[in-house]
Amino acid sequence: MILSVHAVFGAAVAGMVPSHPMAGFVLGFASHFVLDAIPHRDYDLISVESGPGKKFQLVDLLQKKFALIRDMFLVSFDALIGFCLAFVFFFNPVHPFIFFIGAFAALIPDGLTFLYLLLKHKPLGHFFDFHVSFIHTKLTLKLNQITGIILQFCTVGVIIAIMVGVKYLLI
Ligand SMILES: [Zn+2]
Repeated sequence: MILSVHAVFGAAVAGMVPSHPMAGFVLGFASHFVLDAIPHRDYDLISVESGPGKKFQLVDLLQKKFALIRDMFLVSFDALIGFCLAFVFFFNPVHPFIFFIGAFAALIPDGLTFLYLLLKHKPLGHFFDFHVSFIHTKLTLKLNQITGIILQFCTVGVIIAIMVGVKYLLI
């Protein structure tokens, strides 16, 4: 799923254990895999799309640079929105850092995957296989990008509502 949805969910699960930052970190990290296993539709990253093998040309290089800059901007904006939403919905004045710990931990798996794609470092490859090949859903919903993103927020909203409901029932 997209970074902002992961950040919000990470902050929500860490917020369940506000006085245990380590547990919040682990739960935030683990929450990433739960969401990725649910069928969804992400936005497209144009720099990782594989095109037909063309010969090196200046225009290709410029197009690739543009695609990479566009994607970096989109991904950074997505993460920033995630931290803002996590703050708005899950900031706890008694434990002011727990929302950030959960949101940050929830983004680490995609950060490690990005590092792998960049460096092709072997130990990261095992993590990549686990995250992308094993955990991540193989079912991409046939939706346009906007509807896909809205549905992701709805999905995470329902899961958080259930979590909060269960928590209040148990207390
Ligand atoms: Zn992921």
